[in-house]
Amino acid sequence: MIGTLRNLTSDKELKKFTRPLSEVSSFFQEGVSPEVLKQIRQVLVRNLQQDPSLAKIKVVPTPGFPGGYFPRRDLIALGVSNPAVMAHELGHAKNLRKAQLYDKLIAATQSLARLNTIVSLPVTLAIKALVRNSDTQREVFNILSGTSAALAAPALSEELGASMEAIKEAPDKLQALKTLIPAFLTHVATSAFPVAIYQSGKLL
Ligand SMILES: [Zn+2]
Repeated sequence: MIGTLRNLTSDKELKKFTRPLSEVSSFFQEGVSPEVLKQIRQVLVRNLQQDPSLAKIKVVPTPGFPGGYFPRRDLIALGVSNPAVMAHELGHAKNLRKAQLYDKLIAATQSLARLNTIVSLPVTLAIKALVRNSDTQREVFNILSGTSAALAAPALSEELGASMEAIKEAPDKLQALKTLIPAFLTHVATSAFPVAIYQSGKLL
């Protein structure tokens, strides 16, 4: 059931939308208590007042997938009922709708970073097997670590930006911090994975 953000500013529609999410068991799930729903509506209403064009953004409940904004479809997927997650995805939407080129840069570096995560271990093993000279090996691992960190940077700064925006606007700051700090650290840990693998190549 795809709706729009405008629909969700209605009490009745928001209740209907969050009903399939109420069953989700997730760290980010705050439940569908009247207080939580009120805060989600506050986040929506405030954002739509600031920028009425956001009302057209499509939104779909995705139990099991915490959340994401998909620029090409101008769609927010929301898998948990949580005002901070709503605000965070709106933060992405505001940034990425503004700048098409920036969106392309994030998408490109993100897919390379994902590929890098998959290949980092086999690449490390191949370098160990193929590059005999240990100084050259060390140099190659340093270059790969640096490149990995650079690939992760644009997506991480976008994540941080969306969360800072969400915290700034949060009706309940503590709730937003409790949700968004662990979420950001998960992104950091994922990005650090290939860097750690290439660094370990120097020690193996
Ligand atoms: Zn995000």
